[in-house]
Amino acid sequence: MVLDRLPLTYDECRARFRMSCADAGFDVEAHAIDATGPEGQQLSVDAAMIGVGPPDRALIVMSGVHGVEGYIGSAMQCDLIDRLRSSPLPDGVAVLLLHAVNPWGMAWWRRQNESNVDLNRNWNRERIEPPSNPGYEEVHPFLCPDTPEMPTPESFLDRSRVLVEQQGMAWIQAAVSGGQYTHPDGLYFGGDRTEESTRIVASVVAERLGGVASSFCVDLHTGHGAPGTYTILSDSPPGSELDGWLATHFEAERIEATVDNPGATTAHKVGQIGHGLAEILPSSTHRSVTLELGTVSDTRMVLAGRAENWVHHHGDRGSAEGRAAVWANRLCYTPDDPAWAHQSLAHGRAVLDTALRSVVGASGERERGT
Ligand SMILES: [Zn+2]
Repeated sequence: MVLDRLPLTYDECRARFRMSCADAGFDVEAHAIDATGPEGQQLSVDAAMIGVGPPDRALIVMSGVHGVEGYIGSAMQCDLIDRLRSSPLPDGVAVLLLHAVNPWGMAWWRRQNESNVDLNRNWNRERIEPPSNPGYEEVHPFLCPDTPEMPTPESFLDRSRVLVEQQGMAWIQAAVSGGQYTHPDGLYFGGDRTEESTRIVASVVAERLGGVASSFCVDLHTGHGAPGTYTILSDSPPGSELDGWLATHFEAERIEATVDNPGATTAHKVGQIGHGLAEILPSSTHRSVTLELGTVSDTRMVLAGRAENWVHHHGDRGSAEGRAAVWANRLCYTPDDPAWAHQSLAHGRAVLDTALRSVVGASGERERGT
């Protein structure tokens, strides 16, 4: 399928994904969620398992974990399907595509899901001890104010400037985006139970890939890094086994550790899906990364996310003000720019091809004890 422009809606993404699979002869399973779309339409996480026979090693590719970031991820999955159609996988290799992990967020143009939850802070929510984030307690009142009028950018920038001077930029970044479990109306909320999408991913992966010897999960995202660039976010710290493995397969300067705390022995964000999958693939050498495509500045991103969150909780998404805020936020994650889309698709193709080669070449990894 030739992609002349990025799909604008969840429905369009899903239709293209299912059509790409049908054209290639790949089966798709739809896993419906309870929440519905803006037109009352049913929403689902769609899963396509590609490969012949029981798999020994697998590439897992997820799109739309943060709904509004998912349109380019969906296009990358369709692009990969087209290539797999013309070059079949070797025996024992499977590719599992999970399309629109957060279909509600994709349909409503929100990063969060139907419960205002950031799904990448939600893995196994009942079983994790949610980390405290005292910094978030300090920023929440002016990050997500409960005001009758939409808060101005200045009301955030003025307060955050003071905190940056007092605590430093890294402190405020960690406070805002590190994840929090105390404010259900806030940003980066990890939820109070394991969400439906998270449970669907866990059950599909367990059913389809239980028993594989090696697995590599690439979770497709946008919004981190300089505009037009891409970054591979490792879920392990520099110097770790994963860090070395990634450096042998990908361009080393593109790899960045998702560090929770300086000096931490683990770098993953608590509740991350790709990382959590290791728990349900106990026989597998499991690795996971996030592919991030840079879009706009962090300041623009946080201001747009803040305004959209205010509209969602306190305003009217259907008003002119509400629609403008929702659209502005969407543009921060998926720029309306064909050059960006073209470049991002090329980045995605390069990363997914490299990821697939690394999985194909992983035969015998368990035997070698690596
Ligand atoms: Zn994301």
